[in-house]
Amino acid sequence: MADCLFYKMVHGEIKPDTVFENDRILAFRDINPQAPVHVLIIPKRHIPTLAELDDGQLAGELMLAAKDVAEQEGLATDGYRTVINCKQHGGQDVYHLHLHVIGGRRMCWPPG
Ligand code: 5GP
Repeated sequence: MADCLFYKMVHGEIKPDTVFENDRILAFRDINPQAPVHVLIIPKRHIPTLAELDDGQLAGELMLAAKDVAEQEGLATDGYRTVINCKQHGGQDVYHLHLHVIGGRRMCWPPG
């Protein structure tokens, strides 16, 4: 857990470009944005993947934070995409649960 990049951000060892924070959630800009807006929403508690998420209240808070960040970033009118990659087949690289909020351009479907 101490080696986790996002855990280090929660604990101030690495300073993210924060766009939202409360006592349970942190949201910051992705270092390698895939669109004009690309924000990551994470729980402050270390949860490796969606498969370990056991707190329905926190799940709802993460979703509402995604909606609020999208509004704050000016994405609400045209829309945006939210993504949670889970483990190898989901394409997860960082093993601290995070929700991507991506917007500012039209997205393709299906994902590759
Ligand atoms: P995943 O593939 O695990 O769903 O997404 C991990 C995300 O973390 C990627 O979009 C990647 O660009 C982002 N990322 C990796 N390292 C850093 C970093 O040091 N800072 C920030 N802000 N984002 C990072």
